[in-house]
Amino acid sequence: MKTERIRGMYDILPDEIGWWRLAEQAMLETARCFNYQEIRFPIVEYTELFVRGMGEATDVVGKEMYTFQDRKGRSLTLRPEGTASVVRAYLNQGWQTQSPFQKLFYIGPMFRYEKPQKGRCRQFHQFGIEALGSLDPSLDAEVISFAWSMMDRLGIGGLWLRLNSIGCAEDRERFKNILRSHFSPSITHMCPDCQRRLDENPLRILDCKEERCQIHIEAAPGSADHLCADCADHFTQVRGMLDALNLNYEIDSRLVRGIDYYTRTVFELMSKDLGSQDTLLGGGRYDGLVETFGGPPIPGLGFAGGFERLVIILQERAHAQLEATRLDLFLATLGEDSRHYAFALAQQLRHRGLSVDIDHRGRALRKQLSLANSLNARHLLVVGEQEAASGTGKIKRMDSGQEIEISLEPNSIVDFIRGGA
Ligand SMILES: [Zn+2]
Ligand SMILES: [Zn+2]
Repeated sequence: MKTERIRGMYDILPDEIGWWRLAEQAMLETARCFNYQEIRFPIVEYTELFVRGMGEATDVVGKEMYTFQDRKGRSLTLRPEGTASVVRAYLNQGWQTQSPFQKLFYIGPMFRYEKPQKGRCRQFHQFGIEALGSLDPSLDAEVISFAWSMMDRLGIGGLWLRLNSIGCAEDRERFKNILRSHFSPSITHMCPDCQRRLDENPLRILDCKEERCQIHIEAAPGSADHLCADCADHFTQVRGMLDALNLNYEIDSRLVRGIDYYTRTVFELMSKDLGSQDTLLGGGRYDGLVETFGGPPIPGLGFAGGFERLVIILQERAHAQLEATRLDLFLATLGEDSRHYAFALAQQLRHRGLSVDIDHRGRALRKQLSLANSLNARHLLVVGEQEAASGTGKIKRMDSGQEIEISLEPNSIVDFIRGGA
C-alpha cells in the first residue's frame, strides 16, 4: 500500500495551523466589516461549468483541471476556482429574480494540475469574494478596498495595486483585433504559444513570459486606451473612488487576466514583502458570466487569492508572532483509584470550558510531570488516594512554581484558574 502524498498536495500540520487560522480569521473579520455573507459550495461540479465559465482556451481548462468520470459516465471536475460555482449557486437559488444584489465570500481548497513550487500547490486554498447585481463603480472600489483592508489587518506591508480596464465584450473583441494587427507582422519571431494565441485569444499574448516576446509585448497598445464611452467613464469613476480612498495604484495596460469571463475592471494586489512571486490576489468584473450560464444580464465582480502565499509571508515576517496554545491544567495521577477520580474531574472541568489533559499511557509520575511540561500546561494538579478521599489538593502554577491548597470541587478549580486567584 502506498503511503506517499500526492505530488503538490500537502498536509497542514498542527505547528503550522496557527498561521492558517490567523489568515482565515482576517478574511472572516474583513467580511464581517464589509457585510459579505459566507457561501460554501461543493468541491466537484460538472466539468461543463468551468469550460463554459472560464473558457476552453485558458490554461486552467486546457491543461490544469482534475477531471474524471463518475459511475454514470458524467464528466466531473474538482473545482479549480470559486467564481463559476458561486454564479451557479446564485442561479440555482433564483436570486437573479428574488434578490439580485448579493455580497458573498468563500474560503476552501481548489485543485489545479500545475507544476508545484513554493506557494503553489495542486490542492491549494483560496479566499475570495463575489459581489453580484450592480455595475456601480462604487462596488469595484469596495471589492478592491476589501482586499486591501484584509492585507492591512494581517500587517502585510508594501501593498500596491495593478489596475486596468479591458472594457465590455464589444471593446474586448475590438481590442483583440487591434492586438492581432499589432502582433501579426512580428508573430513569426514570437514563441509557439503566442503564435497559437494570436488566433485563439491575443489578449493572452500580453501574459507571455518568454524573453523573445517581450519587445513586441512592450510596444503593444493598452486596452484602457480603446474603451467605448461607457466603459471609459466607468473606469474614470473607479479610479476617482480609489483616489478618494487613498489607495495606491498604477495603470498596467498589460494586465488582462487569463480567464475569459473578465470585463471592464481587472486588478491584482501586490506586496513588495514577498519577492518575486508577489501577487497576493487578483480579480475583476465579469459582467457577462451570469448570461453565459443562461441567466439574465446581471453584472458582478470579485477577487480570489491563495492562503499558501499569505502564510509564507506571515511566517517569514519576524514581527508576526503566533500566541502559543497553552493547556489550562494537567491532571497527574498516583494509583489506579485516583485515575478514575481524575478522569471524572477532567471531564467536569472540560464541560466548564477549561482545557485539561491527563496521561493515557499508565506512566510513572515523573513521566507525567515531564509530559505536563512539554504540553506547556499552566497548572498542574497531582491526584493521589489522599486527594481523592479528602477532596482537596495542591494546585501548582507552572510559571512561578507556587503551590496552593484548594478544594477539588470543579467550580473552585475553574474559579482559581480563571481568576488567577
Ligand atoms: Zn465598453
Ligand atoms: Zn510568447
